[in-house]
Amino acid sequence: MSVTLSAAKQARLVPAVQAKGGRIIAGGTLIVADLNYGADSVALITLDRLGLDKIAVKGGKVTLGAMVTMAAVARDRRLKFLHPVADSIGGPAVRAMATIGGNLFAPSPYGDMAAAFLALDAEISFHDGKATRKLPIETFLAQRRKLQKHCVVSISFAAPSAGTFHYVKVVRRKPVSASVVTIAAVIPQKAGKIKGARIALGAMAANAIRARKAEAALEGRKLGDDIIAAAAKLIAAEASPADDAYATAWYRREIAPVHFARLLAA
Ligand SMILES: Cc1cc2nc3c(=O)[nH]c(=O)nc-3n(C[C@H](O)[C@H](O)[C@H](O)COP(=O)(O)OP(=O)(O)OC[C@H]3O[C@@H](n4cnc5c(N)ncnc54)[C@H](O)[C@@H]3O)c2cc1C
Repeated sequence: MSVTLSAAKQARLVPAVQAKGGRIIAGGTLIVADLNYGADSVALITLDRLGLDKIAVKGGKVTLGAMVTMAAVARDRRLKFLHPVADSIGGPAVRAMATIGGNLFAPSPYGDMAAAFLALDAEISFHDGKATRKLPIETFLAQRRKLQKHCVVSISFAAPSAGTFHYVKVVRRKPVSASVVTIAAVIPQKAGKIKGARIALGAMAANAIRARKAEAALEGRKLGDDIIAAAAKLIAAEASPADDAYATAWYRREIAPVHFARLLAA
């Protein structure tokens, strides 16, 4: 999917207005609360008419416009593997408004879809005022404060092979709540051995992060109880979780290995 010329022209306006203190509003589920709780009044720039609400699945590649909502993801049969992720975000009213673009900027413990995109090795397209640029999601998330001045246009990734994408979100209150720990993983296998595992954690740092040590423990191995246990021990090695109303950092570190091991064993 590409953004139309007129949309690109409009996207060019965004950084210009932001330089004067404006902010992008997508679904508004976070930014409206921000404004209600005392942020100075600012110009809000809506992305409603940019045509960024399209979903394209072609030749194994998925491209989602930044304004695609969680509800739209959950409705799309081609995105079945992402349904558990979309369904785990807020209640129906939130899912109807919350966009995937906005989720990239959601502060921890939010950002469940961003964790899934990180496991899927997504690429983020954004307009910087001059041109559309692309960044791997990991780089994007690391720089997201700076990049918030730009307009995210779309998110794309290769559709995972059947059965390789795994997701669990641990919450204190069912059916949905903010995350205690979110784990998203793509575990591909070749000739019975794991090749190219990507594991992402949400609510375990300021933004979604990779669990590279656990990935390395799986690489080239046959999935079995001993390998799962070895990877689980390392799952939180690179994490820096926070204490918040949902859990302490200590609790997050304690339960992450347990849920990771269950996810892989299942
Ligand atoms: C009751 C409630 C429950 C929630 N539960 C969850 C949950 O379980 N999991 C979860 O992950 N989140 C949750 N959230 C947080 C939020 O709803 C989601 O993270 C959502 O995806 C944010 O998207 P939005 O479109 O509403 O963002 P907005 O509020 O419109 O924007 C959020 C930020 O992102 C920026 N932004 C938005 N779109 C773009 C873009 N295209 N380009 C550049 N900047 C952009 C805005 O300027 C703003 O700074 C919840 C929120 C509420 C109110």
